[in-house]
Amino acid sequence: MSHPIKIGIVGVGKIVRDQHLPALGKDQDYRLIAAASRHGQVDGIPNFPTIEAMLDQVPELEAVSLCMPPQFRYDAARTALEAKKHVFLEKPPGATVSEVEDLKTLAAKNGVSLFASWHSRYAPAVEAARAFLETARISSAAVIWKEDVRRWHPNQEWIWTPGGFGVFDPGINALSIVTHILPAMFITSAVLDFPENRASPVAAHVVFRTSNGVPVTMELDWLQTGPQSWDILAQTDKGAMVLSGGGSKLAIDGKVVHDEPEAEYQMLYMRFAEIVRAGASDVDLAPLQHVADAFMLGKRNVVEAFFD
Ligand code: NAP
Repeated sequence: MSHPIKIGIVGVGKIVRDQHLPALGKDQDYRLIAAASRHGQVDGIPNFPTIEAMLDQVPELEAVSLCMPPQFRYDAARTALEAKKHVFLEKPPGATVSEVEDLKTLAAKNGVSLFASWHSRYAPAVEAARAFLETARISSAAVIWKEDVRRWHPNQEWIWTPGGFGVFDPGINALSIVTHILPAMFITSAVLDFPENRASPVAAHVVFRTSNGVPVTMELDWLQTGPQSWDILAQTDKGAMVLSGGGSKLAIDGKVVHDEPEAEYQMLYMRFAEIVRAGASDVDLAPLQHVADAFMLGKRNVVEAFFD
C-alpha cells in the first residue's frame, strides 16, 4: 500500500466537525497533520490562522481540504495549487463556474489533483438508481427538496449572501445526483423567491427538459417544517422510481430495493486518494452550471422577509 497522504484541513466549522474529521479519522489513506482556520481548531495537531501560514510552516503537506464557504475558497485553492498541493473542494466547488475552470487549469499546470467533491453523489442508493434509469424509458422526473433552514443552517449568514446560493446550497446536492443519474438536461424556466431582506433565494421552482424532451421539475423550499423531503422521482416504463432520503433509499413501484446507511464522506476521501494516486483530477461542473443558469434565466420574485 502507498504511504498515507499528509493532509491539512482549512475552514474548521460545521461540516469539518460533522463529517471530515470522522471520515479522515477512520481512513488509513490519510494522515491529518495540520489545520488552518481563523477561529476553529482541531485538537492534537498544529493549527494556523491562515492557509499561507500552514503551508509555510508545514511544507511536508501533500494535500489540503478546503471547507470554508464557497465565496472564500478560490484564493485559498489557488495558493495551495501553486504550492503544488492536491486540493479537495467542498461542495459547491466555488461561487462561479469560471473560477473553478481556472482552478482546473491551474491544477493541470502544477501537476496536482483537483477534486470538486459532490457528497450526495456518494449516497448509498444513487448508483442503483442510475443503473435502474439506464435501462428504463423515462417519461418525467421531479426533484422535491424541502427542508427547514432554521434547523440545518442556524446563524449561517454567508449562505444568504451572494455566492452562498440560498436554497440552492442544499438544492445543488439534488442537482449533483440528477446530473449523474438522468440524461443531460437544461433549464427552460425558473422562478426564484427572494425574501425582501435577503440577497439569496429561500425557494425555487425550476423546469428542465432533457435533450430528448423529457420534462424534469425541481421544487426547492427552505421553509419546510415537520417532515423534510430530499426526494427524486421518475416515471418510467419499468415503474415509478422514488430515490428518497437524499439518495439513501430506492423504491420501485413502492417496493424498497436499496436502503443502506450512508458513508458519503468516507467515499469522497476514497475517491480523492484514488485520483491523487492516479495523477488525475475530477471536476464536474454540471451541478454548478445549472445553479448559474437558474440565476441567469430565473424570474426574481420578492417574498416575505426572512428572520432566523
Ligand atoms: P460554516 O461552519 O459556516 O463555515 C465553515 C468555516 O469556514 C467557518 O467555521 C469559518 O472558520 C470559515 N469561514 C466562514 N466565513 C469565512 C470567510 N469569510 N473567510 C474565510 N473563512 C470563513 O459552514 P459549513 O456548514 O461547515 O459549510 C462549509 C461548506 O461545506 C459549504 O460550502 C457547505 O455547502 C458545505 N457543506 C455543509 C454541510 C452542512 O451540513 N453544514 C453539508 C455538506 C456540505 P473560521 O472562522 O475559523 O475561519
